[in-house]
Amino acid sequence: AGERSMIRLHGVGHTYGGVVALRDVDLDVRQGVVLGIAGANGAGKSTLAGILHGSLEPARGDRESGGAVRTSLAPEGRALFKTLSLRENLEVAAYGAGITGAPLRERLEETVQWLPARLRDRLSASAGGLSGGEQQMLAIARALIVAPDVLIVDEPALGLAPALVDEVYDRLARLAHDGLTVVLLEQLLSRAMSVCHEVAVLHEGVVAAQGRPGDPEFAALAEAAYFSGG
Ligand code: ATP
Repeated sequence: AGERSMIRLHGVGHTYGGVVALRDVDLDVRQGVVLGIAGANGAGKSTLAGILHGSLEPARGDRESGGAVRTSLAPEGRALFKTLSLRENLEVAAYGAGITGAPLRERLEETVQWLPARLRDRLSASAGGLSGGEQQMLAIARALIVAPDVLIVDEPALGLAPALVDEVYDRLARLAHDGLTVVLLEQLLSRAMSVCHEVAVLHEGVVAAQGRPGDPEFAALAEAAYFSGG
């Protein structure tokens, strides 16, 4: 793992009206790597997530990705269809990617295995009845059902109680263990450091530091970058 480039950004910049969200970001998402992007509120994470996903066209710079690389973005769980059942939410996502028939049944089975047992037992219940953490898990499952080559997860811990954050992170660690390429956008540097192979610190739209969490020199650098200018 780690050699083949799945997505590459070169000098990517983005603005909304006069607001600069990203400036001159270079990033290489390599196969099998769990890449964390840590940054405070407004650092540009969601913008970067959209650009990596391919759904947001950067105002400046380039995004390169192999034609066959399928990316999937799991944003906050609030974007679920609340009146549809858990299973229907997964099916709708699969249909959207052109997956039907036998492949759909296969994907559904595999994806459902990834869900915690209490959700597996409630596939016919409506998504609106789920707790925040459960919705977040379903949102990730919905991104998984299309069998992505790169899973992008934008702030899965947002608004969750600590125990639920741990549960969501345990589930993400499983995907990483299975070799899935993951980009995890996270507000807390420490949390990104705890699960990711590599971490980039995003500060005011710039990658201010990048390295491996196990490297003590990087850890110090990352903290300085994360907290600089507060
Ligand atoms: P958060 O954690 O708050 O979601 P973030 O790190 O994901 O923040 P972005 O959402 O990418 O950061 O936002 C980066 C900057 O761009 C912020 O200053 C934000 O206010 C601004 N911004 C984001 N989306 C828009 C928009 N649609 N219109 C105007 N400004 C925007």
